[in-house]
Amino acid sequence: MKEVYYYEKLSEGKVRCGICPHRCLVTEGKYGLCRVRKNSGGTLFALNYARCAASALDPIEKKPLYHFYPGSTIFSLGALGCSFRCDFCQNWEIAQADAPTVKLAPEQAVQLALEAGRDCIGLAYTYSEPLMWYEYVLDTARLAREQGLKNVVVTNGYINPEPLAALLPYIDALNIDVKAFQPQFYRRLCGGDLEPVLETVKACVEAGCHVELTTLLVTGLNDSPEEITQLVDWVARLDPEIPLHFSRYFPRYKLDLPPTPPESLERAWEIAREKLSYVYLGNITGGKGSSTCCPQCGAVLVDRDGFRVQVRELAGDRCAKCGTRVRIINGRG
Ligand code: SF4
Repeated sequence: MKEVYYYEKLSEGKVRCGICPHRCLVTEGKYGLCRVRKNSGGTLFALNYARCAASALDPIEKKPLYHFYPGSTIFSLGALGCSFRCDFCQNWEIAQADAPTVKLAPEQAVQLALEAGRDCIGLAYTYSEPLMWYEYVLDTARLAREQGLKNVVVTNGYINPEPLAALLPYIDALNIDVKAFQPQFYRRLCGGDLEPVLETVKACVEAGCHVELTTLLVTGLNDSPEEITQLVDWVARLDPEIPLHFSRYFPRYKLDLPPTPPESLERAWEIAREKLSYVYLGNITGGKGSSTCCPQCGAVLVDRDGFRVQVRELAGDRCAKCGTRVRIINGRG
């Protein structure tokens, strides 16, 4: 257990958590909405501190991050707890249920990443919702940075500005879910609000972190051309070089709509490519939207076939064919 880093003590032993926009008011002996913060004797504790529910050495492309050290691996960790209750949760066993956990101190996590092999660039906080693991992620990311490791966060972006500002100096890259572009989708299917997520994306871009976005297209719920256009217009206004991943939904947890038709994904890709330089399709094999091409001349910069990755016409951060500067952080120089 660890005392939560952002909360307020109120009268009669109550506390108000400051980590995410829910700002839960938690009375003595009760839990916040994420189920991993508890008021014990008027102090708010993070119950999931240094408790790890899943870990693996993953390809960086699995996060997905396609423009951050392509072809590398990253030591990935996840904990229990989430600020959302998405009916279509793809990781519900650890986000919404009580999977077993093992103790893993920040120093141990960093050591495991250092020992994970030459291609491992650092630590990814992922699988469920790492911002609900805030205290541990901040402590571990600080240590990892001291050891020259990269820190990656894969998140729903639901966090208040103050804790986010304290975390970002230690974070190199994020993949942030923009789950839909309608506030009612967030309220009805996720139990949260869209606006704070968009603010998080902006803050991460402004802080100079490498940012990629993911939208899980759920059959008939957020895959209309009108909604895709609104999303793409928003991303393009922010920065048209932000990579956007459309991911295919499969029935999971409480939602049993049929999987997203491949045509919906391809239509989204076509719409997005009109305004964005880098658009990808995930959870689907073959077809367009897996390799990275030069937005100027079309040369294949990074060739992907599943998780088999080959860096091709890339020289540092430029296209080796036409010399155009491309938005890829590439450790190979
Ligand atoms: S982090 Fe948990 S306890 Fe804190 S406001 Fe968010 S949901 Fe509530």
